[in-house]
Amino acid sequence: MNHIISGAAGFIGSHLCDRLIADGHQVTGLDNFITGAARNLEHLASHPNFRFIEQDVTKPFDVPGPWDQVWHLASLASPREYLAHPLETLETGSTATRNMLEIARRDGARFLVTSTSECYGDPQEHPQVETYWGNVNPVGLRSCYDESKRFAEAMTMAYHRYYGVRTNIARIFNTYGPRMALNDGRVVPAFLDQALRDEPFTVFGDGSQTRSFCYVSDLVDGLVRLAASEERYPVNLGNPAELTILEFASRIRELTGSNREIKFEPLPEDDPKKRRPNIAKAKSILGWEPKVPLAQGLQETVEYFKSITVAR
Ligand code: UDP
Repeated sequence: MNHIISGAAGFIGSHLCDRLIADGHQVTGLDNFITGAARNLEHLASHPNFRFIEQDVTKPFDVPGPWDQVWHLASLASPREYLAHPLETLETGSTATRNMLEIARRDGARFLVTSTSECYGDPQEHPQVETYWGNVNPVGLRSCYDESKRFAEAMTMAYHRYYGVRTNIARIFNTYGPRMALNDGRVVPAFLDQALRDEPFTVFGDGSQTRSFCYVSDLVDGLVRLAASEERYPVNLGNPAELTILEFASRIRELTGSNREIKFEPLPEDDPKKRRPNIAKAKSILGWEPKVPLAQGLQETVEYFKSITVAR
């Protein structure tokens, strides 16, 4: 099949390219490098089934197909990045989603958009099930991200209902692994970077807020299964193993042998207090659940961060 992927040079996008190439597909990747990195795709540069085009997908563009599958992964996924670029973030969920949907409509291609657990905001239902409508502050700092993704979901449903495009919506929960940007401010690279530099761990708030972390290969497998399914409504993809951020800091300490202290810093505005996916739907319709334990995934991620730190 002929695939086109926005956000191909990003963390998840580049792993999706690898998976599709390994499965024997033709892949064209688009990225404007606002947060993606050319290094993430370097190893595919001379692959006969891979092509890269530097493109801002929020702007009008044409990449002649025909395409069989359109993937819209472009996004500023880290709170630090989307707070620094709120307008680009809103455009990526709105205009860019429409641009990518138009390609799918034109070619009769399938379309998958990567949405987010942030659609649930600071959730009042726990764990979060897809039918929960969420608790989002529409004018808060994080709203540029949350509302852009909610708009992307609405736009995707409209293209399905109005034009009959075969769409899928993945609601991705916290994901980690090699090729995350070491300095993007998210908790996994932040704590690993601090451990490797022998610096204190910066825990925001009192560290009682929870998250659940999914390894990237599991997530990509969920995306591929979802894209092949007939499910039009959102599907949660994430690891239900939940832990507090303080517990997470201890896990990183044990793993890296760091004995540095915790430095408590203010909790960012609207930081969700709890987050854990209910994955019953993904289990039943996709036969999917995460396989990689946190210790193993973190070990792979540490090795990667060590390798890029040495390379610098
Ligand atoms: N966090 C933290 N220290 C850091 C970075 C993040 O305590 O250096 C916390 C953050 O406040 C949040 C959780 O870790 O509660 C996950 O943050 P991240 O930015 O990775 O993603 P989010 O789930 O908030 O989108």
